[in-house]
Amino acid sequence: MSLRVFKLSSPQFYAQAFLDFLRLEQKVWNRTPGATGPEELVEAAGRICYMSFGEKQSPRSNEEYIQNLIAQGHESVLEHVSWTFLLIGVSRAFTHQLVRHRIGFSFSQLSQQYHEETEAEFVEPAHLRTSPRALEAWREAVETSKQAYTIILETLDGSQNGSGLDLQKKELKRAVRSAARSVLPNATETKIIITANARALRHFFKVRGSIPGDVEMREAAAAMFKVVRDDAPALFSDFSLKDLGDKTPMLVSKLTGGCAEG
Ligand SMILES: Cc1cc2nc3c(=O)[nH]c(=O)nc-3n(C[C@H](O)[C@H](O)[C@H](O)COP(=O)(O)OP(=O)(O)OC[C@H]3O[C@@H](n4cnc5c(N)ncnc54)[C@H](O)[C@@H]3O)c2cc1C
Repeated sequence: MSLRVFKLSSPQFYAQAFLDFLRLEQKVWNRTPGATGPEELVEAAGRICYMSFGEKQSPRSNEEYIQNLIAQGHESVLEHVSWTFLLIGVSRAFTHQLVRHRIGFSFSQLSQQYHEETEAEFVEPAHLRTSPRALEAWREAVETSKQAYTIILETLDGSQNGSGLDLQKKELKRAVRSAARSVLPNATETKIIITANARALRHFFKVRGSIPGDVEMREAAAAMFKVVRDDAPALFSDFSLKDLGDKTPMLVSKLTGGCAEG
């Protein structure tokens, strides 16, 4: 199973509503032709702070305006636009790192307590391909853990509730699956829905998009980057995708450079 990223939602800007407001204020907004909805929403949020419309509006384009906001650290305006992604074919190791991002992210992930993992697949780390011996050891280990999972599940499912606790059927299932899942490896495939705003995504790309030794993280970051870059290039125009030299992506920002050191 390999990584796939689905875009489930993207930001919309109801420009007419904003223009209605400006008409009430008797202000004129010089809009940049071709700017996308999310880009215009961020510009509108920035301009409302200073009511910089009409004669107070600088000749900057939408992209120049947004990059200037970012350069000045006025980044809360980027929080008004967010995307929702579904990621599949990712490992629990990857999602454990991902969910450490607390600000501007929301997560909904496949539960191993409510969902049985007897058919679980495993995400093969790219680096294993460099060694047939290591790959074989990995395959044996994940298969063994899957067998142990099934044995634990079947054995405990068939046994009486010996915990001494008076557990209802649903809670007993949870206890059994909790015991069984404890043998599943970090490589276990999972599915996760992520909603994140542009500011949070920029931070994520910055700290996670260019760590050379973390291919899975770089590939996920690059896949999400491609989506948001296409929807709102001006919000991410300081980032670019490079090839690390092995056809894996590396996300670099010219404002902040690349890799965070752990
Ligand atoms: C290369 C690397 C190695 C890592 N190694 C480890 C490791 O060995 N062990 C480990 O536990 N984690 C590790 N992490 C995870 C890291 O410490 C962060 O938890 C994770 O990257 C989320 O980043 P964040 O806190 O900046 O993001 P978010 O939680 O999204 O926060 C965004 C920003 O909000 C601000 N913020 C958020 N919460 C607070 C707060 N409570 N107080 C003040 N400001 C706040 C900060 O400016 C923060 O950068 C590593 C991360 C990287 C990139």
